[in-house]
Amino acid sequence: MPVNHITRNRDFLLSGNHDIYISCCHGSSIAAVGCHGSSIAAVGCHGNSATAVASASKDEICLSTISPKDKPWNVHRANSDRVKSLYESTELERLGNRIKDCAQMLQFAAVESEEGGLGLKLRMAHFCRVRTCPVCQWRRSMKWRARFFKAIPKILEAYPNARFLLLTLTQRNCELTDLKATLSTMNQAWKRLSERQQFPAIGWIKSVEVTRSLDGTAHPHFHALLMVKPSYFKKTYLSQATWTDLWMKSLRVDYTPIVDVRVVKPRPGHEGELGAGLSAALLETLKYGVKESDLVSDRDWLVELTKQLHKTRAVAIGGVLRDLIREDDPEDLIHDEDNPDLGETEEGNKFHFGWRERSEEYVYVDRETC
Ligand SMILES: [Zn+2]
Repeated sequence: MPVNHITRNRDFLLSGNHDIYISCCHGSSIAAVGCHGSSIAAVGCHGNSATAVASASKDEICLSTISPKDKPWNVHRANSDRVKSLYESTELERLGNRIKDCAQMLQFAAVESEEGGLGLKLRMAHFCRVRTCPVCQWRRSMKWRARFFKAIPKILEAYPNARFLLLTLTQRNCELTDLKATLSTMNQAWKRLSERQQFPAIGWIKSVEVTRSLDGTAHPHFHALLMVKPSYFKKTYLSQATWTDLWMKSLRVDYTPIVDVRVVKPRPGHEGELGAGLSAALLETLKYGVKESDLVSDRDWLVELTKQLHKTRAVAIGGVLRDLIREDDPEDLIHDEDNPDLGETEEGNKFHFGWRERSEEYVYVDRETC
């Protein structure tokens, strides 16, 4: 293995269609892979010394080793296997069968990154699109964030003085069997809230999150990112107490629901630039609809949750943001904010990684065997 070919950490060094060297850095250690036609050689470097760790086409080379940013694939795909197993021998076994086939093979392309280096970008994969599939839920969440990230410059151009609030609206826990009805009630309450004269947002994006309480009840709540005019802070400002009161009235309940409201601020050191703070707020707003730990915790809970969430909406956009955020192509789960546009990809620069359920790793698969 010509270790001297590895000159840049975290880079992919390409030479021709069939001759690739990939290097990446984990702290002080470096792992590298090189392919010569159909044969693969890999070395691991610690400090200045290189140690061969694999050198045959049958040896398994993990995606997470050569591309640490793709480690989440392992976590989500392993949880998809758990969800699949929980559906076995239930009335929803067909969903488990679909999840079983989800993202079994990932095809990546080696492309230039913005920083000038080269990296792996997802090029092709089959997704099952089951609502409770951890892989698909993760990809959907990334896709929504990508849409918003893409729209941020447009939003800030159209509304340069806009400010943003993060609003979390909750209500009392409900029995899981009442979740669908409860979400419907909450959505009606949201409509009432957003139609109130005091509602200050000129645009909003809202997501639903459902968590599982220790007693097995469901805790549905909304995360909303609100876009307000700068005059909000001078003329129409609503205190947390007022927000709580408005939500209580909109919900038409006789108890005080928990409401949290925060102002989105630029990151320290980036005063005057809202983009970074807005990105962080967006990550908070568009978290996963259901925590993966909740999805895999209990078979009966999962089955009932699946039924209750069927045909409910996870994310909604309103006001002026509806015109600024593209909502087409909702099921394109390939492209995300890390992967916006692949550009030109050469036929020879494709890499396949197959899922290994037992070792919970995506491993390099020679394309001739795909
Ligand atoms: Zn899936």
